Amino acid sequence: MKLICCNFKMNLLKKDIINYLDVINNKIKKDNLIFFPSIPYISMFNEAGFKVGSQDISFKELGSITGDTSILQLKELGISYTIIGHSERREYFDDDKYISNKINLALTNSIKVILCIGEKIKQEKIDTEFLKKEIDEAFKNNLNLINNNNLIIAYEPIWAIGSGEIPSNICIEETIFFIKKHIFDKYKININVLYGGSVSLDNIDILESVKGIDGYLIGGCSLKPENILNISSKLM
Ligand code: PEP
Repeated sequence: MKLICCNFKMNLLKKDIINYLDVINNKIKKDNLIFFPSIPYISMFNEAGFKVGSQDISFKELGSITGDTSILQLKELGISYTIIGHSERREYFDDDKYISNKINLALTNSIKVILCIGEKIKQEKIDTEFLKKEIDEAFKNNLNLINNNNLIIAYEPIWAIGSGEIPSNICIEETIFFIKKHIFDKYKININVLYGGSVSLDNIDILESVKGIDGYLIGGCSLKPENILNISSKLM
């Protein structure tokens, strides 16, 4: 069953979360759905019986890092997943240099990783060197920890995030095929790959015809519970 990952980013307030849960409770399949709300609301989804994840973790387990949140603290809120390397973290918080270290922390703490990779600018053809570099940097010190189950790649072309535009079917298909093949050839791991970037009710049917997509990382569209109900019913 394809995974649906809802990344709320820094959106919604408590009243919106209460309403969200009201709308979806008892109406949606929970097995393949993971919510990544802002930290103050993780427990609310967890207590309502949904799988939850964090949008990031600190690069240190505990200590003097003002403003960061430890993976151990996030585990107490119920997370079983974390996003690592989201393009917004890479852009605003210089996360490129912490990716390998954060993956290590997550996996040693039995938290599954959604690793975001993707090119900045729309390309004529796949930028295989760029993708390989992002993958290899993430994998290089973690080979003893990564397996088929505990790390999922989210292929998110950065230009597609929040733009309303998505790559062509063939481009998504070839890129996902390339990512899976590279990881299998080099590391002998069969990885699942999500597509992320402007997934919406307008394009979900098109995306569903693309081969190789194992699920979706959804930002803006996931902020409305009705949208997720709708997408979830289509993927059943
Ligand atoms: C994201 O930022 O992970 C994302 C997929 O956002 P959106 O769906 O809004 O493009």
